[in-house]
Amino acid sequence: MSDALLTGDALLTDLGARLVTGSLTDEELLAGTGEAVPFQILPDANVVKIGGQSLIDRGRAAVFPVIEELVANLPRHRLIIGCGAGTRARHAYSIGLDLGLPTGVLSVLGTFVSSQNARMIHYLLARYGIPFIEPAGFAQLPLYLEERRAVVFFGMPPYTFWQRNPELGAGRIPPHRTDTGVYLVSEVFGARSMIFIKDEKGLYTADPKKDPNAKFIPRITVGELKELDLQDVVVERAVLELMENAGHSRSIQIINGLEPGNITRALNGEHVGTVITSD
Ligand code: ADP
Ligand code: MG
Repeated sequence: MSDALLTGDALLTDLGARLVTGSLTDEELLAGTGEAVPFQILPDANVVKIGGQSLIDRGRAAVFPVIEELVANLPRHRLIIGCGAGTRARHAYSIGLDLGLPTGVLSVLGTFVSSQNARMIHYLLARYGIPFIEPAGFAQLPLYLEERRAVVFFGMPPYTFWQRNPELGAGRIPPHRTDTGVYLVSEVFGARSMIFIKDEKGLYTADPKKDPNAKFIPRITVGELKELDLQDVVVERAVLELMENAGHSRSIQIINGLEPGNITRALNGEHVGTVITSD
């Protein structure tokens, strides 16, 4: 194709002409690519994460009521259900670390554990016709949501050994784990909500399991949270970093799934637990 054809008015927008002839590392050119209004692919879908350690590892007593409440909400809400990994992943990480294996390999291990959990949740939901989907199956997601109102997936982002390393000095555990993978699904599809179902009311000033004086924080921005510089937080820090640059998912909610009714309230748009916003 000649340059004239590539840059001709009929074929390309001004931005298009600059993109095909320019460099994708040119900052000014890149800035120009953000102007179109972002499209929300699944604006009615709710992404919910069932915690691994916080919920699934507690077994029947914690999991059955969550399943029951999710099912009760199907007539009113479409659900993309992601699953955490939890204690078995931490055990696998500890052995992998002892053997000197890199972050990318630990990421592969975590993926399998979150997949185990997703399989278990999926079989509990099977009688409602709800499918388990792998990353390759996300193309069918809209059909399943339309037909069955929900899907189950594993929360680990499918980076496997392409997982980035933590910052120098921050050890070797994969920084992008199941909170992050599930959050990114809500962001890319422009979902209606991103709800993390865990075992605490939400975010506190410290881990409430370790500090009885920890204070509950009902609402906070990512910027304010950064300023507090807490030693530990209730969601993966990568989620907070990604929220700063989010096009859609600029609000997340963390709720206590051990308390019946919270899932329903959160799905109905009520403020339960902690709401963290990008700004
Ligand atoms: P999941 O299994 O859903 O990934 P995690 O166990 O990884 O959940 O994270 C949730 C846990 O984080 C809570 O159960 C709580 O003990 C802990 N936590 C650490 N710091 C905080 C904090 N500042 N506020 C609330 N919970 C915290
Ligand atoms: Mg976790």
